[in-house]
Amino acid sequence: MLLSPVQPGWAQGISLIRDAEIESYIRAYSTPIWNAAGLNPEAVEIHLVNDKSLNAFVAGGQRIFVFTGLLLAARDPSEVIGVLAHETGHITGGHLARFQDGLKGASTISIISMVLGAAAMAAGAADAGAAILTSGGEFATRSFLSYSRTQEASADQAGLQYLTQAGMSARGLISFFEYLGDQEALLTKNKDPYVRSHPLTQQRVTSLRTNAEKSPYWNRPTDPVYIEMLARIKAKLHGFLTHPRRVFTMYPIRDKSRHALYARSIAYHREGLLEKSVEEIDILLSRYPSDPYYWELKGQVLFESGKVDEALEPYRRAVMYASKEPLLRVSLAQVLLSNDNVELAPEAVKHLDIANRQEPDNSFSWFQLAKAHTLLENNAMAALASAEHAALTGRARDTMKQAHYARENLEEDTPPWYRAQDLYLLARNAMEDSYRKRGKKMPPMPGDPKEGEKDEESDPENKSDEDIAIEEPEAASLNLLELPHHSHSH
Ligand SMILES: [Zn+2]
Repeated sequence: MLLSPVQPGWAQGISLIRDAEIESYIRAYSTPIWNAAGLNPEAVEIHLVNDKSLNAFVAGGQRIFVFTGLLLAARDPSEVIGVLAHETGHITGGHLARFQDGLKGASTISIISMVLGAAAMAAGAADAGAAILTSGGEFATRSFLSYSRTQEASADQAGLQYLTQAGMSARGLISFFEYLGDQEALLTKNKDPYVRSHPLTQQRVTSLRTNAEKSPYWNRPTDPVYIEMLARIKAKLHGFLTHPRRVFTMYPIRDKSRHALYARSIAYHREGLLEKSVEEIDILLSRYPSDPYYWELKGQVLFESGKVDEALEPYRRAVMYASKEPLLRVSLAQVLLSNDNVELAPEAVKHLDIANRQEPDNSFSWFQLAKAHTLLENNAMAALASAEHAALTGRARDTMKQAHYARENLEEDTPPWYRAQDLYLLARNAMEDSYRKRGKKMPPMPGDPKEGEKDEESDPENKSDEDIAIEEPEAASLNLLELPHHSHSH
């Protein structure tokens, strides 16, 4: 659902995609590796970057950013898995990538917070009617981070070890590196983003190969289940991101395979051909009646074509067949709430509560919950959900305002009341820090003991301070995003 058909004209910025299906396959690829690495798979986050270049990197601790270009170019899942193993090596090695030229003056922390902010906003991007979101221009340098050669060698070594422990061959990792090497000479300054962020030399590839060939699993073929997953990922990404005319060439009408039907159905949808799109999905659903993602697509196509009522049942089925996917519940809730029908609001609240427990940092989900509670006239709960939404989108002042309203109107000593208190104090501390760091006194804030009418805009001392508007939410978003929320069980 959050894989938007919008083709962004983004020469600048990072754009992220949310898609339950693709994320779940990448998790399936990674889980054996993370287990081998001693990482808790639930603590690692996967972010999909909508970008044609071959790239992947780690930022902000345990967050792996995977580019769609890498997924589309992979000739076998073992290539993706190899890269994931290598990136995991950067996580366990605690490697901090350094900035390359081109981002002078930008501090590591502000870039990381920008990436995280973009990630959080992408989760809530349907806010703006599209899943794709572009952050500030400074992030434009696609290969802004890079690792040292020592770190690369250590990540290679670790990746290799994890693959072997997981019983997988490192063939894919090496064939991916060799493929990059064929693109351009390794020793010259390579323009490929992956090579820029992960410096690659012939010596590195050779030594990796020598070690990899010693693995008892070197010749082990790729699991057919993984191959199927990559074919689905490609069909879906092409359907949404490649020009429809090219999609119909790659997946011609005579091809009735499931992947061709999938890709074409999406391409027809992008062309505005609702009937043809649904025709293809219905063939898929008659063959695979319990596939959650085919149901999700049917729901999305109908919903985006304005058939709100008809979209409900497909989304309900999607949730039924993939009950552990919070994103599907959020999509269903969005459809339930889209006509402001009070009668459907309790069902939406039920799904959003489950989704928010599973994935508490999806800001769009909190936004929807606020909407549902507003419809039901639960104003205090609506304010609490709005506070969560504000916190996740880095708006400290709004967080304070909403959390203050919630704590004043919720029953004391209940879990939501405590949560409102926590959010209020968190936002207030973030705000105070931000002012203190710049040697300024914090102006009156919502919820102050004696709250005045005046705010920062009318305060003459701050009026000329141009950077407040920028720095305030950034500082706040960093702190708020690092907040250990509830349990993160997705
Ligand atoms: Zn690397």
